[in-house]
Amino acid sequence: MDSHKIAEFLRSATRLAVVSHQGPDGDSIGSSLALAHGLRGLGKQVDVLSAEPVPPVLAFLPGVADILQRRSVEGDYQGIVILECSDFQRTGLSGLEEHFTINIDHHPGGAGFADLNWVDETASAVGMLVDDLLLRLGAPLDADIATCLYLAVLTDTGSFQFSNTDASTFQAAARWVSAGADPGAIAHQVYRRQPEARLRLLGTALGRMQTDRQKGLAWIELRRPHLQGAAADIEHTEGLVNYPLSLEGIRASVVLREDSRGHCRVSLRSKGEIDVGGLARRMGGGGHLNAAGMTLQGDWSEIRSRVLRELGDLIEAGRGQAGTEEVGNG
Ligand code: AMP
Ligand code: MN
Repeated sequence: MDSHKIAEFLRSATRLAVVSHQGPDGDSIGSSLALAHGLRGLGKQVDVLSAEPVPPVLAFLPGVADILQRRSVEGDYQGIVILECSDFQRTGLSGLEEHFTINIDHHPGGAGFADLNWVDETASAVGMLVDDLLLRLGAPLDADIATCLYLAVLTDTGSFQFSNTDASTFQAAARWVSAGADPGAIAHQVYRRQPEARLRLLGTALGRMQTDRQKGLAWIELRRPHLQGAAADIEHTEGLVNYPLSLEGIRASVVLREDSRGHCRVSLRSKGEIDVGGLARRMGGGGHLNAAGMTLQGDWSEIRSRVLRELGDLIEAGRGQAGTEEVGNG
């Protein structure tokens, strides 16, 4: 992998952009902002671009107000760092191919689409890779960077609960807290400031949960009227998929929800060796072993049948294999 070359390139470049994926989340935004802050601290000019608006829950992060919402890349950047994406398309931005690009990711399956590539599947979050990069570059760690990195890792480890959490996670977190990241204040922002619509939707979602106990499968379907009934938007569905997975005896969970275009956004979670990331990639999406997703178009009931059948088959195929822990998310 090109981590050394990436550090060398960033050391010499002066005008850079950082981009991440559509449907921005804690790791994508936290890592993008941390990298931008760190590079600016080294005297570089850095723009952070996002194809979609930052979700309100992340608005407290230092630097969010400076993020440029764009659908295409314009500017004479010497290099563009692409975080958390398995291909150019995932950014939702056009025009990247014409630039020198650097891919930094922790999802399996996306190695090699950029000019320089660093994909480390063992990293719990891209925030860990950005931290590594800033240490190599000798970028001074300040409270803003520390807050963004802490948030990235907090959200991608399920609050330090998934089995991608290890000693290195806490060592990094300890460094960030020493540098000014405030765990209580960040947890308050992320977990104790929920819009009412989100909790109302949770009620609807749990009421609609269905299970196939024999397969160990649980799923929730949310069409537009269900969202509207809770005055909720698609962003309020984030994280719902973890509830059915928390049910005793359940090995994989699915949330199918209808977005504003009428497409079906699918979130998949699993325990142990059930590889929902592989399933998602076969269906045009992506993700990790135990956390993945995709967006599908077509007849709703056909989509539902196909997703449940394929996931059911995957569970059957994996039956008897050891392991009950979930690993990374995001
Ligand atoms: P989500 O269920 O939306 O929280 O996504 C879980 C994981 O799947 C994350 O690692 C996402 O990056 C990945 N993922 C979700 N949707 C897609 C997609 N359409 N294409 C590629 N990866 C996806
Ligand atoms: Mn991530």
